[in-house]
Amino acid sequence: MLNLTVLHRERVSPHFMTITLSGDDVQHLEQNGYDQAGRLFFAGPGQHEVVFPSSEKWMLQYSLQPGRRRPRVRTYTIRRFRPQMSAFDIEICVHEKQAADTAAPGNAWALAAEPGDTVSFLDEGYGFLPTPGSAWQLLVGDESALPAILAILERSANTLPAEVFLEVPVGEDIRQEITAPADTNIHWLPRNAPDMRPGTLALQAVRDAHLPSGPYYAWTAGESSLVTGIRRHLINDRDVPRSDIAFRGYWKHGRASL
Ligand SMILES: Cc1cc2nc3c(=O)[nH]c(=O)nc-3n(C[C@H](O)[C@H](O)[C@H](O)COP(=O)(O)OP(=O)(O)OC[C@H]3O[C@@H](n4cnc5c(N)ncnc54)[C@H](O)[C@@H]3O)c2cc1C
Repeated sequence: MLNLTVLHRERVSPHFMTITLSGDDVQHLEQNGYDQAGRLFFAGPGQHEVVFPSSEKWMLQYSLQPGRRRPRVRTYTIRRFRPQMSAFDIEICVHEKQAADTAAPGNAWALAAEPGDTVSFLDEGYGFLPTPGSAWQLLVGDESALPAILAILERSANTLPAEVFLEVPVGEDIRQEITAPADTNIHWLPRNAPDMRPGTLALQAVRDAHLPSGPYYAWTAGESSLVTGIRRHLINDRDVPRSDIAFRGYWKHGRASL
């Protein structure tokens, strides 16, 4: 359990906030990269007496606290390490329909975090493990998976080109400068439609796509229906072995996390 403070907060595009977390404890963090993520514990709006859990057995400590002292907890990807500053960045997507909704604690925290605010972070490692012998990789996600997909591209071997389908809320959320293996194709999919359910465009784009030949590893994350839809499509329509697909629902439409 790393005890950290907010060093910096910056809006990088209409729907993304980058938050830099720092502290001596960062030296205890294994810097694997890829889709490495962890649980972030933070104070909710108006909470002044929060007690952060101190060990990996956080659930017990957490549930023993009365509500006013119990921190909020949400899972976020480590977007980039900043070893010289003993820090790392997370990137939180601001939900399109709930920009000011304090009922979504992660969202509200990202919009209000100030330098000096204290948090705790519990690393949960990474899940990206390409099958040996893959000729290329397929990466599919909505905005919640953007930090993981960009971090995967930065860390991937140059011999593993990627075909990326990345859905974002609006065109201004598209990133211009990306480090990726040679011959990578990024298909940006801006919804530009606040009422459209996230994941819809990415699922359809992959279904319609003419994909490269050769064995590949598929990684998909984001809204739960997107992830299960992609997995089903790859298995049923494209004969991809189950063992070559990594998938994780990052959030569920209409349901708060934890
Ligand atoms: C391993 C892992 C890594 C993740 N990495 C990141 C990351 O780097 N950046 C990031 O932004 N998210 C990431 N997520 C997703 C994030 O944890 C969830 O979106 C979380 O639910 C956000 O909490 P919240 O308090 O804002 O909303 P909640 O209180 O959980 O939900 C409130 C409402 O908002 C809706 N909602 C939740 N998430 C979204 C969303 N992304 N867009 C639109 N509506 C939403 C819910 O359906 C619900 O109706 C990750 C999740 C996992 C499991």
